[in-house]
Amino acid sequence: MATFKEFRNNVKPNWCPGCGDFSIQAAIQRAAANSGLEPEQLAVISGIGCSGRISGYIHAYGFHGIHGRSLPIAQGVKLANRDLTVIASGGDGDGFAIGMGHTIHAIRRNINMTYIVMDNQIYGLTKGQTSPRSAEGFVTKSTPQGSVETTLSPLELALSAGATFVAQSFSSDIKQLTALVEEAIKHEGFSIINVFSPCVTFNKINTYEWFKDNIVPLDSIPDYDPSSRIAAMTTLMETNGMVTGLIYQDKNKKSYENLISGFRDEPLAQQDPLISREQFDNL
Ligand code: SF4
Ligand code: MG
Repeated sequence: MATFKEFRNNVKPNWCPGCGDFSIQAAIQRAAANSGLEPEQLAVISGIGCSGRISGYIHAYGFHGIHGRSLPIAQGVKLANRDLTVIASGGDGDGFAIGMGHTIHAIRRNINMTYIVMDNQIYGLTKGQTSPRSAEGFVTKSTPQGSVETTLSPLELALSAGATFVAQSFSSDIKQLTALVEEAIKHEGFSIINVFSPCVTFNKINTYEWFKDNIVPLDSIPDYDPSSRIAAMTTLMETNGMVTGLIYQDKNKKSYENLISGFRDEPLAQQDPLISREQFDNL
């Protein structure tokens, strides 16, 4: 069985020292090993941004896609080879701005895969502009007078789109994050984990200290029931989206693959085409 070290490669990450993304990489590697995977059983698909580099830093199959498009690629990979464990990963700009259409539809499609968002509430790679996750009043070169737009609440949107697994974590809490990634891998359907991942270079507001002061651990809420969509939505709204832990899981809904009548069991890559080119042209 592979250890987490076997999910390392010899590429040195060029994230800034202290960037939250390091811990997310480590959590994925640990969760993959704890799940009993071998590197050739895992595919990590990313988009563009500092976060997008993650697919190159993990010893597994990887695909560094284009901006906001990690999810279409990842879903295609999963449907073509359902033996693979597929993790898509990217930033808040990647997934909640240009890629938001894909995110919502991937959630409601419920293909069996995991999506990890490295949420630093800013665009890091392009040197610090306001993102959909930046707070109102957030000052950057793109909003010099402070952002006047409403901050996006991605997990409330996920719940309303029919998400079957919704979690949130903090890159400093690698133990919790690793456990959540393991649960997400096990989940039969689409799992989304939003991870607060501080950008130490450009975001001087949402720092490690700020997150520590503002995060509300689910453990602190008595009798919380993660099978209740209403409780999940209410808790997200009441905590201004700052709650961490397993927020919601629907263990009953079947994944996309299991709901398609006649969808054959073998990976698509090993099958003959469903119809010939000639039949297709004559449709
Ligand atoms: Fe991380 Fe920010 Fe540096 Fe990008 S710019 S590597 S997000 S600290
Ligand atoms: Mg970002």
